This record gives sequence, C-alpha cells and structure tokens, in this order.
Amino acid sequence: MCGIFGYVGGERDARDAVLEGLQQLDYRGYDSWGIATYDGTLHTDKKVGAVPRTMARLPGHTGIGHTRWATHGSVTDVNAHPHAASDGSFVLAHNGIVENADELKRTLSRAGYAFNTQTDTEAIVRLVELNAKKHPLPEAVRLACRELTGRNTIIVLAKNGTVIAVKNGSPLVLGRGAERGVHYISSDVLSFSAHVREVAVLENEQMIVLEGTRVSGKTLQGRTFTPRFEKNAIVGAKVSKDGFPHFMLKEIHESGAVVRAVMKSPQKQLGDVAQVIRRARHVYCIGSGTAGAAAAQIAYYLRVYGRINATELIGAEASDRLPFFTKRDVIIAPSQSGETADVLEVLEYAQARGATIVTYVNMPGSSMSRLADHSFMAQAGPEICVMSTKIFVSQLAWGYLLAKTVGGKRKAALSALRSLARALDSFLTDASTRRRIRDAAMLFSKSNHLFLIGKGQNKQIIKEGMVKIIEGAYVHAHGIPAGDLKHYAITLMEKGTPVIAVVSKDSLQSDVLNAIHEVKARGARVFGIAPSPSPHFDSYLPTPECGETSAIFNVVPLQLLAYEMAVMRGNNVDKPRNIAKSVTVK
Ligand code: GLU
Repeated sequence: MCGIFGYVGGERDARDAVLEGLQQLDYRGYDSWGIATYDGTLHTDKKVGAVPRTMARLPGHTGIGHTRWATHGSVTDVNAHPHAASDGSFVLAHNGIVENADELKRTLSRAGYAFNTQTDTEAIVRLVELNAKKHPLPEAVRLACRELTGRNTIIVLAKNGTVIAVKNGSPLVLGRGAERGVHYISSDVLSFSAHVREVAVLENEQMIVLEGTRVSGKTLQGRTFTPRFEKNAIVGAKVSKDGFPHFMLKEIHESGAVVRAVMKSPQKQLGDVAQVIRRARHVYCIGSGTAGAAAAQIAYYLRVYGRINATELIGAEASDRLPFFTKRDVIIAPSQSGETADVLEVLEYAQARGATIVTYVNMPGSSMSRLADHSFMAQAGPEICVMSTKIFVSQLAWGYLLAKTVGGKRKAALSALRSLARALDSFLTDASTRRRIRDAAMLFSKSNHLFLIGKGQNKQIIKEGMVKIIEGAYVHAHGIPAGDLKHYAITLMEKGTPVIAVVSKDSLQSDVLNAIHEVKARGARVFGIAPSPSPHFDSYLPTPECGETSAIFNVVPLQLLAYEMAVMRGNNVDKPRNIAKSVTVK
C-alpha cells in the first residue's frame, strides 16, 4: 500500500512540505515513515512507527517521503523507505510489490551487489544502480522499471536534486502549485490539495522527471509526453474531526448526509446503466473487505429489486471466474479509494475481454474510475478513519437506488432513501441510543469472542459488523446467517455466550427470532438490534421501521458498537494495527 510524496521547485522547507503530505497519506500504511531532502547533498531520516507530528530538521527545498505498509521484510528502521544507492547517488521509495524480486536479487548478487534490507524494494535500487553505470539516472530508472513485474510505483531523489517518479499499478498524481514551477507528487490528490491548483493523474508506465522548475515526461517505452493538467476539484480541502474525538465517530455521524448525496446521483447515468444491466448476460459485483460486503449487498439488491441474477465476487478470490467473463457481462465495483489492487486487476482483465465496467468510488481521478465505462462518484467527502463506515453506507444506498432503478422503481427508492437519511440523523443524535450501545460495548469488549446473527437483507450487514469489531476492537467475531446456525455454530453456544441479533421487520423476521430462541435455549446472552422488543433479548436497541432500507440502517449501530469497543479497549481507533485503508498491493 504505502504513500509516496514529493516536493520540488519551491521555497517551502521540504521537510515541512513532505511531512505534512505524509501525515495525510498515513491511512495508506503506518508501519514506518521516511523523508529525504536535498540541499546540495542528500539527507535522510526514517523510523519505525506512524508519521510523527514533528521531526528533526532536514535542510533543503526539495524532498521525497514515504509511509510504509510492509509487504516484504519486517517493520524495522532499516527496512523503512527511502532506500539509498550503495554509492549514495540517489534514494528511492516504493509502493507495490516487485514480484520478480528474488530472481532479480539473485542476478544482481552475481553481479556483485549486496543487499542490506529484507525488502523487495532494494532489488529496484540495485537495478537502477546497475543501469546507472551506463546511462544518466532518469534513463537508468526507466530501464530498471521495465524489468520489474508486478505493480510498482516509485519516487527517486538524486544527489543533484532531480526527482524522478514512475507510476505503474499503484496511483501517482502530479500537482502544480500556486507559484510558478512548484510541483508536488503524491499517491493521492487530497494530501497536497491545500497547495495545488492543477493536477495531472499519471497513467501506468509513465515517468516524470522534475529538475528544479522543469518537468518532463517519458513512458517506459521511451516516448516523450507532456503531463495533462486539470483543475484541482478539491483545492484547499482540509480535513478535521469537527469536535469529535475520532474521525470514525465523525464519519459515522455523516451517514444521513452521504445517503442524501447518493440521492443526487445523476438520473440519466443511472438510467443508462440500468439499461446496460438489464441487457447483460451476467452481472458480477466485486469488492474486497468492507467493499466486498458492499458488493455482495449490491448483488442482493439487484436480485431482489432488479430481478437480475447478480453474483458477488471477492477481489482476491475471483480468479476461477475470469475465464467466464464475456463482452456481454457487466462488472460493478464499489470502492472507497478506487485503487484496490486485487479488484483493479480483475477489472482490467474483464475489460480486456470486452465486459462493461461500472464503478462507484469516493476518490476523483482514481484508477478504477478512469478505467470504468460508467463511473459514479460517492461525493461522500474524505473518509480518514482506516475503517470504512460512511462509505459502506453510501455504497449500499447507491446499490439500492441502482437496483430499484433497474426494477423501474427509482422514485420509490428516492423516497425510501429520504426517510432513511432522516432516521439516521435522529438516531445518531439521540442520547439514549448512545447509552444503550455503550452498555452493550462494555459487556462485549470484555469477551474474547462474540457472534452476530442475521438473515436475508441483514446477512451482509452482520458480516460487516463482524469486520468492524475485528478491525477496530481486535475481538474475534463470527457472523452467522441465522438459518445456518443450527448446522454448525450452535455447538459453541453456552451460558453467557455473547450474541448480537440483527432483526428487520420483513418476511424473514420469524426465522431470525427462531435462531434467537435456539441460542437462548443454550444460555447465550443476546443483544437485539431490532424494530421491536423480544422477551429473548437480554438487552435491546430499538431501531426505526426502515422497510427496504432497514439493512442500510442496521449497519450504523454495529459500526457504533465497534467504535465504542475499540475506545474501551484502548485501541488506536482511526488507525487499527496492521491494516491500511487503500490496499494497493495484492
Ligand atoms: N514492498 C515494499 C515494502 O515492503 C513496499 C510496500 C507497499 O507498497 O505496500 O517495503
């Protein structure tokens, strides 16, 4: 995953500029960080841990930086990026995985190169060094990148102050600052938005060379190009917690607003896509992690409200389906970042086979939205907490609207979403709600494991609740489809076993209530999230009647529960251990 940042051509202190950029990028990984600057010579500082608020001075007005999510090599200062050439002629930071690193390292070792880190990145460094024996550095970088397999984006700072960046797979954007000749380079637009007026989103296999105020571009095939700048749509964007103790809580409180944003989805575009879906041979919905649960829920909505036999796919587990993609298929991908590598790879493959790609992302200019035949923007505002909450709500609301549009009931969907947004607003500002969720969290945060049960429209919701509790609270949770309970997990029910039951007033309600009976009979302690009380609930959170959008509502109390549990357990709520928000490696 990793975040890459660079600052060139201006008067700002490079350490400050890069540090500020990395602070905004650390959702991409926070195992270690590193900055290198240039003031006639190179200076580097890098350490294990999240990007700091302040650091020691590094002189110079040109610099690069990196925040790491380790894929190859443990989390140590030595493995932190940037990595230096043996002769100190440049430093290099990397986002991606060099899939042929072992092979390259073997060849380079035979050529006499030594490896001081455990990273795959060092293979790129030594390969550039080898090429630099015969070529100027930009050319050496270009030739080295041609030999890498996998998705690899890099940034290099040379000992003469030149910055070279190559985009391949993982994202990279070039920003033009307000003053002439100032350039920023980063893994995302938001990280430099306060300083940048124009943005050029780089394409795969493009290399940018920044020498002072001069910019030039070359593809890895050797063709020169001029980066195409566009107005920065999110200029001056600043992110703040708005008085909330954590971004997660703030973002959960934006649930009503994101549903209203979905209601503004362009009618014509929805209608066009609905038509494409109706005519498709097959529709696949794909995502990873939380977006995987969203994709599955979108497929559910398409089946129930669109009468479309849609199939859900998990990004990393789609390889067995690839041979079946045809030009008559539609692939729908919801994604926060629009950069998720395993999903992106499936989309690229499907597109090459002629399938139609529909994306729903929250990052303008992301790889997925640029690749899509039909790209929808969530317009949900930045989501900073590494755990996705409001974007999940947004993805579900959009999927519901799309499915209802396919079924010819767009207007009914809009009115249901309007009521949902109102219900979410009042739920989130109700003090008794918060108290009940806190009481439940108090109980659950002491457990080593807990269970969630639900059915039908709530099947993916309990899965997502499970994901949030595992991610945020580090408590083992297990989501069980209510009907499947008796086939296996019932063996684990004993006196005091904590169970969260999510119930909606629908045709499946009695099946869920039966499952609750079954766990109660074995002594489980049940917390009900339901529109009406039941004598079998030990504790209960009343939810409003939300009809078809009930599942979208129900995820919010589960998110709040995971939040409270994470706080009570003293965890780093906005940055849970070991994960990153934008998973740009496979
Ligand atoms: N593979 C590199 C490392 O482990 C970069 C990781 C990444 O981009 O996530 O250091």
